[in-house]
Amino acid sequence: MLKAYQWQINAIEANNVEVADLFDISRSIGLLPHIIKRLPEFEIKSSDSINSCGELISCAVCLQDFKDGESARRLPVCRHFFHALCIDGWLARHGSCPICRQDV
Ligand SMILES: [Zn+2]
Ligand SMILES: [Zn+2]
Repeated sequence: MLKAYQWQINAIEANNVEVADLFDISRSIGLLPHIIKRLPEFEIKSSDSINSCGELISCAVCLQDFKDGESARRLPVCRHFFHALCIDGWLARHGSCPICRQDV
C-alpha cells in the first residue's frame, strides 16, 4: 500500500520536472548563472530576519523563515532578499524579483 503511494508521488514529481524543463526551453527569460553569481550575497543575522515591526521575515521562494548563518542574496534594485539557493533557482527561470516583479 505504502509502496504504491510512493510510486504515485514519484510519478507526479517526474512529470513536473519534465513540464518545467519544457517551459524553460520554450521561454528562456531567466538570468545566466554568471550574472546571478554577481548579485550580492551575505550571511543572515538575527537582525536581518526581523522586519521593523519585529515580525519574522520569510523567504518568498520557499516560504521558510530565515535563520542565523544562512546565506542569502539581496537584489540590488528593490533590496528584497532571499535564500541564496532559492533565488538562484528562481532567477535562472524568471529574471525578476519574486515579491515585486522588478527586473533584476
Ligand atoms: Zn528560501
Ligand atoms: Zn523586490
